[in-house]
Amino acid sequence: MPALEQLVVDIATAMAERTARGRVADYIPELAKVSPAHFGLVVATADGHEVVAGDADTRFSIQSISKLFALVEALSRDADAVWRRVGREPSGSAFNSIVQLEAERGRPRNPFINAGALAVTDLIAQDDDPRAGAGAILRLVRRLAGDDSIAIDSAVAYSEAATGHRNAALAHFMKAEATIDGPVEQTLSTYFHQCAIAMSCRQLARAGRFLVHGGRDPASGEAVISAERARRINALMLTCGHYDASGEFAFRVGLPGKSGVGGGILAIAPGRASIAVWSPGLSAQGNSLLGTEALEMLAHGMGWNVFNPDPAP
Ligand code: GLU
Repeated sequence: MPALEQLVVDIATAMAERTARGRVADYIPELAKVSPAHFGLVVATADGHEVVAGDADTRFSIQSISKLFALVEALSRDADAVWRRVGREPSGSAFNSIVQLEAERGRPRNPFINAGALAVTDLIAQDDDPRAGAGAILRLVRRLAGDDSIAIDSAVAYSEAATGHRNAALAHFMKAEATIDGPVEQTLSTYFHQCAIAMSCRQLARAGRFLVHGGRDPASGEAVISAERARRINALMLTCGHYDASGEFAFRVGLPGKSGVGGGILAIAPGRASIAVWSPGLSAQGNSLLGTEALEMLAHGMGWNVFNPDPAP
């Protein structure tokens, strides 16, 4: 695909020249140590090619991108329980908003805001071993990426555990409203560990391929989830994957995507490609500034969007 290869080179070159790169998240102290100079991009195409640029193999903290994998794991265990706990509406609020949760009596709007993710993770954390829940999510990610070297960065997990008071507030409030069953500390610990999974863009793009192919992992041929569930997860990523900037992302990029405060974004062009981008500087809403711009250039250049797909150039 020469057009795609040239486009990816052009995007990486343009991003390297940017001086306004956003702000690295510093509310989790370990994340503040990451240089905003990084940029990585990997496009894993439906026909099995990987087009890469920049820091494609440098591992970063996937943070909220883990909410996607936690949702897949929880839906596989008990989909009815997931949808009893969380809704499917965009929040229009910040990722860690408390006010909306109280107004709506402890039922989070969707599984991708922090409150919703904590409620989903609580379903996975129900186990005697406090490490089991994050371990199950890690095993899923390793299987999807075909890479057993993927691991949890415990320094990041401890750093967030020491400072994650807003998440603790959300979890305690949901426990009071019976949205969360388990011991709050166990749910929080599982959540902080899943967020601390470290992956490169190459690993992340591989882990997203099942959403390109209607739920089927192209590497193994295995149906990870049904085609209907894959469609619905893509819908949630489009409407809720970027918090209160989800509308803006749909407007600019037009693809389902999930961001994390580590600066990564996983975007899916159904039937075309799984795309992972990483640039640690964030916008005011907590999404990668250059990552979003790079995806906009890529989606536009390739005619990849879910609303009005154009033929590839
Ligand atoms: N662990 C982060 C938090 O809960 C994830 C947020 C994000 O990546 O958007 O604050």
